[in-house]
Amino acid sequence: MKIEFLDLKAQYKSIRKEINQAINDIINSSEFIMGKAVIELEEKVASYCGVKYGVGLNSGSDALFVALKALNIKKGEEVITTSFTFISTAEVIALLGAKPVFVDIDPKTFNINTSKIEEKITSKTKAIIPVHLYGQPADMDQIMKIAKKHKLYVIEDAAQAIGAKYNGQKVCSFGDIGCLSFFPSKNLGAYGDGGMLVTNNEKIAGYVRMWRVHGAKIKYYHDFIGDSSRLDSIQAAILLVKLKYLDEWSKKRAEKAKIYNQLFKETGIITPYVNPKCTHIYHQYTIRVKEKRDKLVDYLKQKGVPTMIYYPMPLYMQIAFKYLGYKKDDFPESEKASHEVLSLPVYPELNIKNQKLIVQKIKDFFK
Ligand SMILES: *Cc1c(COP(=O)(O)O)cnc(C)c1O
Repeated sequence: MKIEFLDLKAQYKSIRKEINQAINDIINSSEFIMGKAVIELEEKVASYCGVKYGVGLNSGSDALFVALKALNIKKGEEVITTSFTFISTAEVIALLGAKPVFVDIDPKTFNINTSKIEEKITSKTKAIIPVHLYGQPADMDQIMKIAKKHKLYVIEDAAQAIGAKYNGQKVCSFGDIGCLSFFPSKNLGAYGDGGMLVTNNEKIAGYVRMWRVHGAKIKYYHDFIGDSSRLDSIQAAILLVKLKYLDEWSKKRAEKAKIYNQLFKETGIITPYVNPKCTHIYHQYTIRVKEKRDKLVDYLKQKGVPTMIYYPMPLYMQIAFKYLGYKKDDFPESEKASHEVLSLPVYPELNIKNQKLIVQKIKDFFK
């Protein structure tokens, strides 16, 4: 049988009845926009993350964008983030005319290297956006300490890390704002686009609730310029079903990761490092391949083993950010990671037989 990188069909099969019922209920109610399902999901996701408020939005990117808007980040101001993440994290900063200021990563966790943040802080710095990459929390103790000392906001990009914990506490509950993505391939994925902003700050939540309906509290009376950015009810209903299974799925992902770790023993492959303070939810199981990574990818593809590279180019090297003036090797660890990382299939429905096969093919390549 063909190995999938992520088998969303298998997941659907396991919850088909509930999903179909949930979708049907929305269609029958005609509450497509801002219905009860959205409100219920907002409450449940906020409570799941250990925060007071959740506001459903179009996407994770939107959540990040409106987070910066809500904190009044303006043109010319600076926001610090990691140079090794999906573009959204930094794109939203640039979209507002603010300046993304990159920091290199810790080579072990792939997350922002907190010992290099303070040297980047200037009088224009307003916020830090740590990313919990691959499902492992960034070093939140250090980040919150630095933020407090320099009076900076913290926005957690938790698009890959819903439910992951740092010191036993869920991500999204450390900073001023947490941003979630429900993109279909995320651990809590919709059947389309979706996202959520979560916060303990009532004012921020209120602003974002108005933002997503064109800056209006009362329909057709607009207090400020906003946008159309809502999570739709069908997606919310689907996510309400899936949320019930999220912890069970995360547990299964961690089990698969453990099996890989065992299978890779004594192969020279560098398996994911887990910070003892963290519970990793394994959005990705990402190994480091010191040599011939790209050749390995081709070989595995031929053998029917799908893999992904998150990410082949650090943000500071992207053409889109050329205007920021960074040079090659400004962030050597991000650069190195981009040449060495390789994400393998990891999802609750993946079976051991296929895991063994994947590892065997990697061993064969290096033999
Ligand atoms: C997926 C992702 C986003 C963006 O989410 P969308 O819902 O696709 O807009 C932002 N940051 C990170 C780290 C992501 O992985």
